Amino acid sequence: MTVEPLPSLDAHAHLSLSSSGVELARSGAVLAMTTSLEEADLAVGRREPLVIWGPGCHPRKVQSQQAFEAGRFRALCEPTAVVGEIGLDMGSRLYGCAPLDLQVRNFRQALEVLASMPRLVSIHSYHATRQVLDELRRRPIRVPVLHWWTGTAAETREAVALGCCFSVHSAVARQSKFRSHVPPDRLLVESDHGYNDPPAAIPCRVEWVEHLVGQQYGLEAAEVRRLVWLNLAAIVRETGTRSLLPDQMGAILDAASGDR
Ligand SMILES: [Zn+2]
Repeated sequence: MTVEPLPSLDAHAHLSLSSSGVELARSGAVLAMTTSLEEADLAVGRREPLVIWGPGCHPRKVQSQQAFEAGRFRALCEPTAVVGEIGLDMGSRLYGCAPLDLQVRNFRQALEVLASMPRLVSIHSYHATRQVLDELRRRPIRVPVLHWWTGTAAETREAVALGCCFSVHSAVARQSKFRSHVPPDRLLVESDHGYNDPPAAIPCRVEWVEHLVGQQYGLEAAEVRRLVWLNLAAIVRETGTRSLLPDQMGAILDAASGDR
């Protein structure tokens, strides 16, 4: 069975909690990240047909980092197939971040939770690609997804060997390290759409990054779309999270991957 046309699948975006389900439906399928446990409290109980909300703690958000609590994080991760965004950011000289020791403490606690609770985990690593790989080596998790990855070619090879997937943003899609070092079955695409970024009304759009990734891998954009759904289906199988998906999302995954 095939589902045509497949909706777009944005593997990392930030949606406004004040948007209605009808408004969110304009964005296609989205793995929606939160930046604090406070936001996640309001998000993970929502049921939109094509949105999976992930509990997160953004490394740039000082208040989020200070308020992180591992037990609360664990409880928020339990009912959802996706977690994020979490990670490390060492760009503090550029724009200010939570103190690195606090970021590392929280990231380690989050990975500890996720080591025994497999999920698709969207990870931020800006100016901290080496540090994130070191932490994943120290405490491996089932499916780390490196979002907006800016690591070197050598780090990219290392990440692939560690089992990472990559959600590729249009800003990095042309970099040859993906084509050269990342197998197609590790790819997702993302907008990193931020609802506070102007123009706020534009929903998530991943057509351009589908096109760019297609150019790199010699695929049509429609083939890239099918590929990312297949890759998400594989991640869901690997993490055993099929029962946690919204019904419509699960049905598309099943049909796209020919499971049933
Ligand atoms: Zn983000």
